Amino acid sequence: MYDVNRVREDFPILTRQIYGRPLVYLDNGATTQKPRQVVEAMVDEYYNVNANVHRGVHFLSQQATELHEASRETVRRFINARSTAEIVFTRGTTESINLLAFSLGEAMVKEGDEVVVSAMEHHSNIVPWQMMCERKGAQLRVIPMTDEGELQLEALEGLLTKRTRIVCCTQVSNVLGTVNPVKEVVRIAHEKGVPVLVDGAQSVPHMPVDVQDLDCEFFAFSGHKVYGPTGVGVLYGKEEWLDKLPPYQGGGEMIKNVTFEKTTYNELPYKFEAGTPDYVATHALAKALDYVSGLGMEKIETHEQELTRYALERLQAIEGMHIFGAAQQRDAVISFQVGNIHHLDMGTLLDRLGIAVRTGHHCAEPLMRRLGIEGTVRASFGLYNTKSEVDALAEGIERVRRMF
Ligand code: PMP
Repeated sequence: MYDVNRVREDFPILTRQIYGRPLVYLDNGATTQKPRQVVEAMVDEYYNVNANVHRGVHFLSQQATELHEASRETVRRFINARSTAEIVFTRGTTESINLLAFSLGEAMVKEGDEVVVSAMEHHSNIVPWQMMCERKGAQLRVIPMTDEGELQLEALEGLLTKRTRIVCCTQVSNVLGTVNPVKEVVRIAHEKGVPVLVDGAQSVPHMPVDVQDLDCEFFAFSGHKVYGPTGVGVLYGKEEWLDKLPPYQGGGEMIKNVTFEKTTYNELPYKFEAGTPDYVATHALAKALDYVSGLGMEKIETHEQELTRYALERLQAIEGMHIFGAAQQRDAVISFQVGNIHHLDMGTLLDRLGIAVRTGHHCAEPLMRRLGIEGTVRASFGLYNTKSEVDALAEGIERVRRMF
């Protein structure tokens, strides 16, 4: 049994009142709230362990290093990577993708080459590739989608050429909630020998992920979206691929030997981790992954799927409701508009009722253009949301609608 009321007790912020009303936090796609287990791990490390990692002979440094490296093992297990050499700590999904776009660009992209992204990518899985393409004289190609918000995989085969260097695709759309068949994307790309990056920012918090099963070359996600701290994320890469790529940043930790004439680089994953890592955040991220693993990712997924089904039912019953995206496989994200009420007005008025939703283009302007809109209101659910919160959302929307 999944006891959501028991789970909520781990998140102190959920007892807050906003404008005298209980907080209804439905902005989990942007960031999630943190359980005590995560915050306490950070406080404990700063109070009792803190020392820089890797280079110290003293006790605290070794203890901090052990926690940091144990966290890498926790991440490895969580996404089922083969080895901790394949787990690079970054500042988040955005930095993971920038790292990859830079390094892969340097190693293997030439003028006239191509990069494939999907029509529903977040800016962070478009712009770094665009910047690299501009630098290298390469071209961006786009996998189109249907009006329901599903990728047109038959078009992907036609997009892959001898010049395609990588396919980049999100596992879950942060706007439409579409769960993309990334395993199938990988299979199609591999037939042409093309590597694949999966953006897992919106999947890792909601479903079990197994990178070996997906067979993607690269996978990126952020700690703060999976109940962990801000400022830490992960780039997973198959060892044979990471081995081929040059470092992204230079500095301490990423080197083997330095002379003024020549520098040799450290082994994986340290080659990609210049400078002092946020070792307190990596430790707290591991606590967050332990936390969701303890609840069970399947149970979280079932709870959120049920909540999403219920929310779709409640929202669809509202007059003038338009929900964007109707994919067969969908996750805990619902984007909508009601009549001609501007998304900003809806968001602002819901906020007055204590309901936190996100409004705007959700960092997916090309997708907005494809849908022919400027923005939406987005409700996104997490492991602590309840049906009565969905009721509060539906009643809130109804109230705003009547006002207009
Ligand atoms: N990709 C997707 C699909 C996202 O939803 C987000 C965050 N909104 C990102 C990438 C970027 O994540 P971050 O800001 O944590 O780097």
